[in-house]
Amino acid sequence: QRLPMGSCPFAISDPVQQAQVEEILKPLILTQDVIDRVRDVFEDEMKLGLAKNPPKLSSLQMENTFLPELPNGTESGEYLALDLGGTNFRVILMELKEGTIQREEVKYYKVPEEVRLGPGEQLFDFLADCIKDFLEKKHYTGEKLTLGFCFSFPMHQKALNVGILVHWTKSFNCPGVVGKDAVKMLNDAIHRRCGHAIDVVAVLNDTTGTIVKGAYVDHETAIGLILGTGSNACYLERVSRIEKWEGQHDAEEVVIDIEFGAFGDNGVLDFMKTDFDREINRNSLLVGSFTYEKYFAGKYLGEIARLILVKLVDEELLFKGKCTEKLRTVGSFTSQYVSHIEKDSMELSTEETEKILGEFGLSYTQDDLKIIKYVCAVISERAANLVSICLAHLLCRMDKPHCTIAVDGSLFEEHPRLRTLMEAKISAWAPGKQFKFLMVEDGSGKGAALIAAIATRLRAHSKA
Ligand code: BGC
Ligand code: MG
Repeated sequence: QRLPMGSCPFAISDPVQQAQVEEILKPLILTQDVIDRVRDVFEDEMKLGLAKNPPKLSSLQMENTFLPELPNGTESGEYLALDLGGTNFRVILMELKEGTIQREEVKYYKVPEEVRLGPGEQLFDFLADCIKDFLEKKHYTGEKLTLGFCFSFPMHQKALNVGILVHWTKSFNCPGVVGKDAVKMLNDAIHRRCGHAIDVVAVLNDTTGTIVKGAYVDHETAIGLILGTGSNACYLERVSRIEKWEGQHDAEEVVIDIEFGAFGDNGVLDFMKTDFDREINRNSLLVGSFTYEKYFAGKYLGEIARLILVKLVDEELLFKGKCTEKLRTVGSFTSQYVSHIEKDSMELSTEETEKILGEFGLSYTQDDLKIIKYVCAVISERAANLVSICLAHLLCRMDKPHCTIAVDGSLFEEHPRLRTLMEAKISAWAPGKQFKFLMVEDGSGKGAALIAAIATRLRAHSKA
């Protein structure tokens, strides 16, 4: 009996070999049953995460972002932003006039591994040095600058300008920061290293930056999604439904940072974990955390593919059982490769796939190429399923007549099929809900500058 193939048909010349390959990939194909279970657990965990005295701990943080307002078209002035946590670290200077972006300057910096893993103080000194370099290179002579800090990690926010790091994720693990306020650490470093007067007025998650940048373009934006190195979403929740902050807000809605990358850290998703997922976790920088993110985010998708390919080689189902050192190396197969191979599948080509295998020094048959494409299709489909489960649930929960989902992130951008897959799945699982994706360019960085502008506008307002 054939397995449900979803949108990944697959046929090679030897039916016995095909059945063996399918058997190994079977646990990665989510049945409707599993999909329903994940959705139910997500719903429960969201409720627990918003509850005042939850009977048990939720793996969803459901964090208040303290974002008081979305842009209203009156923001003016020059704002600085930092974007740390994704593929690229950058410093941004943005000029706004009555809510419209007039000018923006961006400079990218590479954060070396020894800084990503070294002492926290050194990381923040590095950030301050980059700001200094940026302002010197741009010959900035203006006076005091206001800064929005996009810090794409789980934080406990106590105010718009207070963000206590809960946990490092992705490729950062600097001792001495968890439990501390990232804004204070940045401010202290700026005082130590920069000659300029800079006031950090807001700290935000990249999903928050993305929802704000989305709302700047489209007023129906109510979800911010990141599908990049890591993955997460935020959405507009009605204050009346947020038990844990009872009476603390005068606004009707607030932006909640779900932190769904950590979904399942308490074991509630163990029923869908495969051996490949267990191995990814074992090989990861931060073992035992960020379960959901490790199933599909850009930092991990390529590695999942690699583990499956190695398994197939070891079972003599691929490359005639012959591997190379490179393919055996953790992290050698990136998510970008998965995107390229998927592109081949869509274009009925093998060009990209053959190029990649060449880089790995592997010799292959036509059937090998089909198997590799099948592997990438199966894990891409699982990725689309998992993200769509969350988004469909949010659409049903918010129940707005129209909802724009602002998206940013390298995986969503580069993968040729994720968006279409997700559109189909969300339509099926949130029947009758109107939605559309809006790719926002640099939501995290530009959103940070916009939030700095909103914060400044509100400060001026409260002083007046
Ligand atoms: C972080 C989130 C972030 C996401 C996307 C996750 O690892 O915990 O805060 O939004 O990555 O960058
Ligand atoms: Mg980003």
